[in-house]
Amino acid sequence: MPAEEVFIALGSNLGDSITIVEEAIQALDHINHCRLLARSSLYRNEAISDIPQDDYINAVVKVETNLEPMALLLELQAIEHAYYRHRENDERWAPRTLDLDIILFGNRHMNDSHLTVPHPEFSRRRFVLEPMFEIEGDRFIAGYGSLSYLINAAPVLRMEKLDRPDA
Ligand code: AMP
Repeated sequence: MPAEEVFIALGSNLGDSITIVEEAIQALDHINHCRLLARSSLYRNEAISDIPQDDYINAVVKVETNLEPMALLLELQAIEHAYYRHRENDERWAPRTLDLDIILFGNRHMNDSHLTVPHPEFSRRRFVLEPMFEIEGDRFIAGYGSLSYLINAAPVLRMEKLDRPDA
């Protein structure tokens, strides 16, 4: 299949989250048939949760891939498992070592038991929208609107952009 552009969101709030997210970005670049095109800074974000827990470290990357969405999801899950994705009682908002979500996969829309694309909650998550804006500028996303519009409409949570060590 022809290469498509995919946005992937990364998050961690257990362990050395800054190192984990940086390593995961490198791991994404090493997936066969997948090439890193751009990455955001890291962002420190308040957790959305009723359970008290540490802040999250989040980032977004843009990759180019020839993989089908399900094949890419399996690669992402292999990277997550390498970091022992700890989920107590499988609670939705429990702390986690590494979470990788496919946000956009080209212009595809899909919804099956394994994969929903675009990601069903990305348009309300500042910790996804702000890093996307950093990579893409004020891009228009068909069916949703511009990134600046979505950012202004999203719930406000405490968020801090971290300095890039390589910047
Ligand atoms: P969570 O850990 O809450 O992100 O949920 C993981 C589950 O969400 C996995 O079993 C995936 O099959 C499913 N899933 C559905 N859509 C997506 C998506 N766009 N990106 C990543 N996982 C997804």
